[in-house]
Amino acid sequence: MKLVAVSKFHPVERLMEAYRAGQRIFGENRPQELAAKVPQMPSDVEWHFIGHLQTNKLKLVLPYVTLVQSVDSFHLLEAIDKWGRDNHKVIDVLLELHLGAEETKHGFSEEEILMIFEGSTPKSIRIRGLMGMATNTEDEDVIERDFARIEALFRRIREEHPELADSFTELSIGMSGDWPIAVRHGATMVRIGTDIFGPREY
Ligand SMILES: *Cc1c(COP(=O)(O)O)cnc(C)c1O
Repeated sequence: MKLVAVSKFHPVERLMEAYRAGQRIFGENRPQELAAKVPQMPSDVEWHFIGHLQTNKLKLVLPYVTLVQSVDSFHLLEAIDKWGRDNHKVIDVLLELHLGAEETKHGFSEEEILMIFEGSTPKSIRIRGLMGMATNTEDEDVIERDFARIEALFRRIREEHPELADSFTELSIGMSGDWPIAVRHGATMVRIGTDIFGPREY
């Protein structure tokens, strides 16, 4: 399992403490902040983008990240594919499934994600798996249900598309409040901010 240290809003000195302790994967959710931090950190850091990404910000993000975890619309999928073609790169992405959370409207529905695999997938994108955020609640049954839904979709796609066995391998679920439940539901990546760096000051 991979640990993504979610370092948004924290200064580079704090990231370097985690780096010196051995952490190499960092997640950021704002393009400008990511682009500013990249040159200040060692070059063997692997950056993941985990926030809502506007298509006019691609050039601040795509040159630096090894994974865009938060592809949440057809429009964004197409724009990333075009950027990849124009720049002769193949971009690794996760598709974000919209889980129960009322507070975020971002993400695909199950039907939309299945549709993406029906068609011919974009040439300059490699879909590596799914990402989801559970409902922000103390009710573990609700969180459990959210993670069960995304796990079922992940397994279904792998079953229906054996040709993707080597590439569609990542299930990114679990944050500071709910990662033990996510691990029980097959998480291959957890995205942890608060439990590593403490509370964020907005
Ligand atoms: C901020 C954020 C996290 C980390 O949240 P914590 O509760 O601080 O662990 C994980 N995933 C996404 C998409 C985030 O925006």
